[in-house]
Amino acid sequence: MEYEAVIGLEVHAQLLTASKIFCGCATTFGGPPNTQVCPVCLGMPGSLPVLNRKAVEYALKMALATNCQIQAESIFARKNYFYPDLPKGYQISQYEQPLAEHGHLTIRINGAARRIGITRIHLEEDAGKLIHSEARPVSFVDFNRTGVPLIEIVSEPDIRTPDEAVEYLKGLRNILLYLEICDGNMEEGSFRCDANVSLRPSGAAGLGTKTELKNMNSFRFVKMALEYEIKRQRALLADGREIVQETRLWDAAQNQTVSMRGKEEAHDYRYFPDPDLVPVRISAEWVESLTKKLPELPAARWARFQSQFGLPAYDAEVLTSDKALADYFEGCVKEFPQPKQVSNWIMVELLRELKKEEVGIASLPVTPAALGRLLNLVDKGTISGKLAKTVFEEMMATGKDPEAIVKERGLVQISDAEALLPLAQEIINANPKEAADFRAGKTKVMGFFVGQLMKQTKGQANPQMANDIFKRLLG
Ligand code: ADP
Ligand code: MG
Ligand code: ZN
Repeated sequence: MEYEAVIGLEVHAQLLTASKIFCGCATTFGGPPNTQVCPVCLGMPGSLPVLNRKAVEYALKMALATNCQIQAESIFARKNYFYPDLPKGYQISQYEQPLAEHGHLTIRINGAARRIGITRIHLEEDAGKLIHSEARPVSFVDFNRTGVPLIEIVSEPDIRTPDEAVEYLKGLRNILLYLEICDGNMEEGSFRCDANVSLRPSGAAGLGTKTELKNMNSFRFVKMALEYEIKRQRALLADGREIVQETRLWDAAQNQTVSMRGKEEAHDYRYFPDPDLVPVRISAEWVESLTKKLPELPAARWARFQSQFGLPAYDAEVLTSDKALADYFEGCVKEFPQPKQVSNWIMVELLRELKKEEVGIASLPVTPAALGRLLNLVDKGTISGKLAKTVFEEMMATGKDPEAIVKERGLVQISDAEALLPLAQEIINANPKEAADFRAGKTKVMGFFVGQLMKQTKGQANPQMANDIFKRLLG
């Protein structure tokens, strides 16, 4: 029997509001434990929550950017469970009436578009953080994160492969970054994902029994966990056994998923509407004004990079898949208006350096304008394309201007026939066999001669001119 995988993702994204969702405490990350707390987020009796308007605005932006229908009225509910990082004994979330529903995100897999349905987007509060002591058998709790606003984005079970899951996640994260409403940091947990996966006979309509995977804090781990789980389930089914509905944790040390809790231990959250919060009513005017103010989103920018700059779809895809990279590209094109050349440099040289240095584009010592000026130097023939790479490396290391580096190191391309001619003659004299070969019609040795001249001039000879000179001398 052939099986296909069915995957649905639940994504939590921390919103970049200055204060928490139901109180005025700061949301800044990394403060000393329990310094950003108050009676409301600590769940003191008698304290009352007040909804942060900015959090609603951010959630609405994401809902609009993912083609969701905004619900005119939504309700906050209490999700009841006990855990030491949850001081109230319940999390304020949305259940039966979420903020937004029926959206979708289009991803591209090997050039083909796939539409992934978004079931719902709702607002909720984050929990605190437990810190387990290595030295003593005790745990500490930090409530600074308690009450930080989250949106939960639930997908339809429309995803079929681990690669599609990763593309979908990258797409969501990218939109959040374009909207500037979440910093998207998976390692620090400001963007996190639970993955639900099941198998069914290929092409079947129903859904098989799913497992829910948690604890993947990178795209790579999401992919690995899903791959592992699909294999595990396939082996069970091939053995004629049943899939047990359960929650499983990704164990990054062992590269496997392990059972955390089964269905019988599953929580009964006893949801009910929170009596302390009024229904959220969203006016059509608010939605309209937010729609008008939405920035250009990745899909639109992808299309524009192709139409405005004439870039291939692939280049446009790579560049717009990261807002900072796309901004960098546009800054560069302003200085040096040859988009394809700029794109080549960014996709090859810049991305390679970024990978090597493991830094973000924002902290690059080379500004887009400086890279633009470097490309200008190549275009004008001041330096060769090959030397430009050396100059670029030094720009990356020192942050110096390309012009200064070229001047300091005397890298200016030699486009002076008078200077190259004697060197070329010397090379011909020193290599009579190759010279004879060329004259006998083996034009391939031209590469050898030009190479020698390049070597002697440390790459500074203008290659076209070198070619012409040798042709003349050997002709
Ligand atoms: P639960 O009640 O366990 O949270 P939900 O119905 O709320 O389940 O769905 C949670 C996520 O799991 C959604 O993203 C949904 O698309 C996905 N999902 C639901 N059923 C399946 C299934 N059988 N296989 C894979 N994913 C599923
Ligand atoms: Mg659910
Ligand atoms: Zn507070």
